[in-house]
Amino acid sequence: MAGGAQAQKMFFAGHMAVAYFLDRAFLKKGASFSLPLIFAAAMLPDMDFMLSPLFPHHSITHSLTFWAAVYVPIFAVFGWRRTVPYAVATFSHFLIGDVITGNPPLLFGLSDARFGLVAPWVFKNYGLEYGALYQSLADAAMAAAFALFAFRTGSIRTVWSGAHNPWHVLALAAIVALVFFGAARAEVVAGLKQSPGTILYVSYAVVALAQLAFILPFIIGRRAGSGEEGEELEEEGRLPATASSSSKATLR
Ligand SMILES: [Zn+2]
Repeated sequence: MAGGAQAQKMFFAGHMAVAYFLDRAFLKKGASFSLPLIFAAAMLPDMDFMLSPLFPHHSITHSLTFWAAVYVPIFAVFGWRRTVPYAVATFSHFLIGDVITGNPPLLFGLSDARFGLVAPWVFKNYGLEYGALYQSLADAAMAAAFALFAFRTGSIRTVWSGAHNPWHVLALAAIVALVFFGAARAEVVAGLKQSPGTILYVSYAVVALAQLAFILPFIIGRRAGSGEEGEELEEEGRLPATASSSSKATLR
């Protein structure tokens, strides 16, 4: 197997699960910001599928150097208090997600060193099929952790709340669509061409199932939510409390 052809990614569910847990940590600290934008920020590095001939997947956009250069001016303009959760989400993509499932060049531009933990070893010793299986299982484990946590805490109802800013949801949908088609073309089709086999099909099935962890909250949220979604987001501390709900709170 050619090293350059190995699939090197965690999929949506894994990145979104990591971002979700970071998001909960920030909420505890009393920061209020947009969950759809957190998810979008966590997916940004995989937009490199769109830069494909210029920069191959898992190069410049999977590095500390690149995103430091992007976020420092953003901090300067918008203030770090309002923007740091989004930066953390983006950095989690390659510092947590892809370090586990891939081999990102974190110091791109300064050093050619790559920083994968387990994936390079699996690919080297067991080949593309088992490498893909390992990646899909890591993705599924993160998705399962998210689903369990969200169910147990009840926060599953607010993941896709109708009270989120629609523009933020649209931005997330656009990024997910671009990454999805980019990944399908560059990785899924290429992988099938290179070594079609049962293990690879099983890996893809596991990945597909893992993504359900983020489709389920959509269905549950739709069924449970009936006009109280704004209040639920306020209770979480994600939206500033409106005058009516804060007066209600004092009455309680
Ligand atoms: Zn990635």
